[in-house]
Amino acid sequence: MDEALMPEDEVNTDVLKVTGDERMRQNPLNPGPSSVGGQLPSGYVDPATGEVYRDFVIREMRGREEKVLAGNGMFVTQMIQVIINCLESLGPIVDKQRLAEAVNQLPLSDIEAMTLTLRRLSLGDDLWLEPTCPIEDCGVMVREKVNLGDLEMKPIADPMQHHVTSVLRSGREVKWHVMRAMDAKWIASLPKKELKAERFNIMLLGRIESVDGQPLNRLSNGLKRSIEQLDDWLSYGDRREFDEIINAYEGDMDKIVIFDCKACGHEWSLLLPVMHKHFFSLSGI
Ligand SMILES: [Zn+2]
Repeated sequence: MDEALMPEDEVNTDVLKVTGDERMRQNPLNPGPSSVGGQLPSGYVDPATGEVYRDFVIREMRGREEKVLAGNGMFVTQMIQVIINCLESLGPIVDKQRLAEAVNQLPLSDIEAMTLTLRRLSLGDDLWLEPTCPIEDCGVMVREKVNLGDLEMKPIADPMQHHVTSVLRSGREVKWHVMRAMDAKWIASLPKKELKAERFNIMLLGRIESVDGQPLNRLSNGLKRSIEQLDDWLSYGDRREFDEIINAYEGDMDKIVIFDCKACGHEWSLLLPVMHKHFFSLSGI
């Protein structure tokens, strides 16, 4: 039986209590005993209708998904596969093939949001972080509990538009799209050495389609040339400005955790590593 069609009284409230999210309990799709519903910060734009789908239902990970995460390779690629396996519906879409296509098109911020949902569903809302105070003479371990249900999502600026044209102050016209799951998979597939040396250009290539009407080719035979073109075409100021544009436009999750060392009074912050293997077994970073 399709878990999404289970009657309300068969919903396992123990699982839902773990999520601590009232909205999930009230999901009209009546999620099954090990499924929850949620809402994506950005959503999927159906190319056939132009509609944006943000409501989703996802089931808990099973042994098969655990094996995917235990394998070698980049976490983001594994997680996208896990989401494809576990996603039961996205808006009105329930067909597995269509769901897989939609997941690959989803903004990375939505992949993060579903990763967070799966983490909460499997292991609950409480996450203990135990960083060491970075002050050299201190080094005391600080313990801080994060409630994953409290993380705030920032939606995409315009959910209908994943493709954007921005004219920079320099007059450069940049055509780009929000970072999607398929772009993240492409980045994860590049050689580590290349990724390290050209991190910023590769992050740009994950999004930018053309500069002043000149297309960029990110296939392996054109990658080196595209990186050279980006180095030539975009000044330091252009890059800073573009970075601000994408931060303001794309959906995001507030992952900043602030720590306060009781021993020396130092205050500092860390970004919660949501797209990281340890996020599913994390007790300290
Ligand atoms: Zn300290």
